[in-house]
Order: sequence, then structure tokens, then C-alpha cells
Amino acid sequence: MRERELAPYAARPGRAGGRRHREPPPRGRSEYQRDRDRIVHSGAFRRLEYKTQVFVNHEGDLFRTRLTHSLEVAQIARSVARSLRLDEDLTEAIALAHDLGHTPFGHTGQDALNACMKPYGGFEHNLQSLRVVDLLEQRYAAFDGLNLTFETREGILKHCSRRHAPGLGDVGARFIKRRRPSLEAQIANLADEIAYNNHDVDDGVRSGLLDLEQLSRVKVFARHMRAVQHEHPRVSGTRLRHETVRRMIDTLVTDLIRTSEAHIRRHAPASLEEARRAPPLIAFSPRIRDESLDLKQFLRRNLYQHYRVTRMSNKARRIVTDLFRAFLSDLHLLPPEHQARAQADAPRAIADYIAGMTDRYAMLEHRRLFAIEAA
Ligand code: MG
Repeated sequence: MRERELAPYAARPGRAGGRRHREPPPRGRSEYQRDRDRIVHSGAFRRLEYKTQVFVNHEGDLFRTRLTHSLEVAQIARSVARSLRLDEDLTEAIALAHDLGHTPFGHTGQDALNACMKPYGGFEHNLQSLRVVDLLEQRYAAFDGLNLTFETREGILKHCSRRHAPGLGDVGARFIKRRRPSLEAQIANLADEIAYNNHDVDDGVRSGLLDLEQLSRVKVFARHMRAVQHEHPRVSGTRLRHETVRRMIDTLVTDLIRTSEAHIRRHAPASLEEARRAPPLIAFSPRIRDESLDLKQFLRRNLYQHYRVTRMSNKARRIVTDLFRAFLSDLHLLPPEHQARAQADAPRAIADYIAGMTDRYAMLEHRRLFAIEAA
């Protein structure tokens, strides 16, 4: 979409908030397209391929990883942004970057690292994603990080505690002033939720940890599955599951667009600034919100707390905790470049190193440190 076709409340690439280091304007692409391209070329983005969503990478080739998850989020976010005449490239950049700071082994990894870092300021994957794009990526001669625009950075920082906000400068300010991020960022956030709820249903069944029988006790799944069975009485198994999940995604996306349109009409923001001061304008309707929460609870009880997932999480927690303790007890165990960074702040440098690991690299590093027979 050309800049002049964007809605008045869209983020305009021509007025993009400054990068932290001055650079000449991009040629042949917009500021937000440049952000997206930098994210795709980053090392942290490639590592998402081997980081877990729910299933650890070696458990199967067909499960979602953080990379395919991020691509699904970007696709959903772009569709919604386009319908609302918002900047697709900005929402895409935020979606592709939103999980860059994720540890290996999904939420278990994050919780374990946060527990290790408790005495040293904690660990939070949103803040870490920002740290990756602001500091940890080293690809440019003139600066650390990717030097992204303000709008992309504020979108990456989805949540932030009031304790951390003052230390984060421009992107922390909205948590103190209680303002919203751009509508493009709000979309990326809800697209994340649509993506994971639905692909976790799909992966859950594929892995054999969930079955259609159980899922038919979830209202939203049952409703869509019945509709598919009604229209296609002979469809079953994998195709029934895919068709049901596809319809659930479609319903969520359509509802998100319609409800947001209604909110935008009611508040009629004349600019991005007014959209930031309005209540959250990108939202689901109350009915769809409830259905979505219902599905989330079902997944928590039946998939995330499934004994086989719990067993893997238990191992993951041990790996992360063992690595952290070993490095902290002897910084010489760290690879040289991380040792150098550890001189200034050892716990944070160790957290950066562990957070950057893929699932399999963390397992390998654990073997190298703890298995007597390993090299
Ligand atoms: Mg995500």
C-alpha cells in the first residue's frame, strides 16, 4: 500500500521515528521495509528455526518452531493491517522480531533463566528481543544492534514492568504514561495469539497428545468441526482437523478486523498520536475473546501440562539452570567473546549467551560441560 493510501491513524514510514544512530534514508524501500529486511538477515532470526514452541526440535520435523510461528504471525498480521489500511511492513517487521529474544525450550527455558537471574534483575523475553535488536546483533560497522526505527522497537517491547520502564528510554515511556503502541503493534500482538492457539491445536493432535474427541469438548472447536462435518460428511482425520483449524483462524481474523473497525470508527483517531492515546482499538469481540480464552485454558490443561511435555520441560529446566550455574561459578568455561562481555556484567552476559542458544545447542553444551566422555 502506498503511503498516501494509508489511514490517517496508520504509522507512516515517511515520518518514521528516528533510529538511534543517524543513517541516510533507504533507497527503493521504506523505513519499515528496511527494518524488516534487517531482521530477516539477522543471526537471531535464523536461530528461531531451532528453537521450540511447545515441542523440542528433535521431537519431529513437522512441528512448529519459533521460525514458522513467527512467519505465521507475520502473515496473519499483514492481512489484518491491509484490511484496516495500516502499514503492513511495520506490522510484519514487529511480528518477525517479536520472539527474537526467546530462550531455547520455550516458556520453560524463559522461566528457568528468569529464576536464575532473579538476584540480577531478572530475565524477560520481550526485553531480550529488544536487547537483541538494540545491542546483541553485531553486523554493522558503525553501531551495535540493527538500529531499527522507534515504531518497530516499541512494538517489540510488548510488555514491560513499571520497574524496568524508566531504564528503557523512549520505548519505555508509554508504560509510564499509560499510552498504547501503534495499531500495527497491537495487531502483531493479537496475531501472535491467533497463531499459537491454533497451531498448538494442530501440533497437539499431530503429536498424539490431543485427540479430536477431547477437542470436541471445546466449544469453538466443536462448532467449526460440526460445520465441516455437515458440509463434508465424508471428511475425517487430518483433513477434518486442518479444515476445522483453518475455519477457526478465519473466524478470529474476521472478528478482529470487524471489531477493530468498529472501535476505530467510534474513536475516530485523526493521527497515530491520537490512536496511541485512545483505549486499545485493535481487539476481538467479547464473544470471540471468551471462546479464545476457553481454548487457551484447554491447551494449558491438556497440552502444556501433558505429562510428556512436563517431562521434557523438566529436562529443559535442568539444562538451563545447570548451564547458568556452571558459567557463573567459573567464567573461564565461557567461549572467549562471552568471557570478554562477562567482565562488565557476568550474570547478564551469561543470560545473553544462554538465551541465544538453540534447543540442540543448549543440549550439546550441557553434554560438553557435564558428560565425562564428551569432548
Ligand atoms: Mg510468539
